[in-house]
Amino acid sequence: MAGVKRKLKERTRNGNTETEAKHMANIRGVLRRMTRFWKPKQLALKAASKQVVVAGKKVYRYKCAKCAEYFPPKSVEVNHIVPAGSLRDYNDLPAFCTNLFVEDISLLEVLCKECHVDITNEQKADAKTSRASSGVSSGFRDIIH
Ligand SMILES: [Zn+2]
Repeated sequence: MAGVKRKLKERTRNGNTETEAKHMANIRGVLRRMTRFWKPKQLALKAASKQVVVAGKKVYRYKCAKCAEYFPPKSVEVNHIVPAGSLRDYNDLPAFCTNLFVEDISLLEVLCKECHVDITNEQKADAKTSRASSGVSSGFRDIIH
């Protein structure tokens, strides 16, 4: 196991300046940023929105799919009901991209930040359990929701 760890820390990417983990983290970051303007995500937000008047101004509030409360835009996030999963090497790319770039808005849900944290923690615990049973042990910080 120690041998595997050492190998992963070798700088084998980008002209031997980056580790495999750093390289994959960069790819995850770029793909994640692409979802910022993903139309189905915006449609999911729109579907959960209602216009209200606050202090004489028309503003939007978004309904959390879990607690059913309404929140201002900065307090909600769009959750992938099917997590994008891990991206540890190029073999993970097809599934990762398929789950991340969903076209079907029924696979997206608007959650308040608090509920999103709860659901993310549940998904991480599930992923950890399933990895433990499949014999793969690794951190789960790379799971994207
Ligand atoms: Zn909530």
